[in-house]
Amino acid sequence: MALFKYPVPEKLIDENGLRIDKRKYNELRPISFEVGVLPQCDGSAYIEMGGNKIIAGVFGPRKVQPRHLAHPNKCVIRALYRMATFSVEERKSPAPSRREVELSMVIRNSLEPAIFVEYYPKTLIDIVVQVLAADGGTRCASINAASLALADAGIALKDLVSAVAVGKVDGKIVLDLNDIEDKEGEADLPIAVMPQFNQFTLLQFDGNMTKEEFLNAINLGLEGIQIIYQKQQDAIRAKFAYEYSNSGELTEKNEREDE
Ligand code: ADP
Repeated sequence: MALFKYPVPEKLIDENGLRIDKRKYNELRPISFEVGVLPQCDGSAYIEMGGNKIIAGVFGPRKVQPRHLAHPNKCVIRALYRMATFSVEERKSPAPSRREVELSMVIRNSLEPAIFVEYYPKTLIDIVVQVLAADGGTRCASINAASLALADAGIALKDLVSAVAVGKVDGKIVLDLNDIEDKEGEADLPIAVMPQFNQFTLLQFDGNMTKEEFLNAINLGLEGIQIIYQKQQDAIRAKFAYEYSNSGELTEKNEREDE
């Protein structure tokens, strides 16, 4: 059975320098966020990044059960990454895979540095990520959504965390790998950053690059991250501007009505 919905072309970058989805080397896939999509969670966010559709929910800070897992000086952060059985072309087994266990840890470790963990002693924050559709770079898209879900839960953050995968495809460094580029390319370099401080919280690397290519890839990733960061902030503003305007408090709209 074919691994992809369509045959993998011989060349992943054409003679005009365009990728299989017609992007330039430095273009992100279309990306959109929605904050506050799950009423049962303390915070939540949904992301579409290319063909990825991912939802993240946050519960907490809340009491730790069992109590002996609690930390006296900070909160415990847990993350759970799961792919729906229908998220990939060939039905995925519902049993948690080793990859899902690993990505849960990667997501947790990428987000923890952004949280003021010492503000919430003896508590637990649960981050749950569900991949509804996967299209390469799900760990980065999950981090982008989960970071917004944490903000939506009102958890004190040093900064949002923004993430993207850079890679090497047909010998070229390209931004934001899609599924085929991820699987068929020569290198995959997912990064996550707290953009305000240019502080990395994730840097993984799989494949081959020269030192120069590696530095180019990091710079290209950081450029992409600035765009993602802006969109994340816009998504938070969109939710809270809406709530504020519905709270009856003075807003731009109400001010106009009062005139
Ligand atoms: P990431 O999603 O962060 O890039 P991987 O490199 O492990 O993580 O996965 C690359 C891509 O492979 C995923 O985004 C997804 O599109 C695809 N993939 C992952 N697991 C499966 C699976 N069980 N079956 C088919 N495709 C998968």
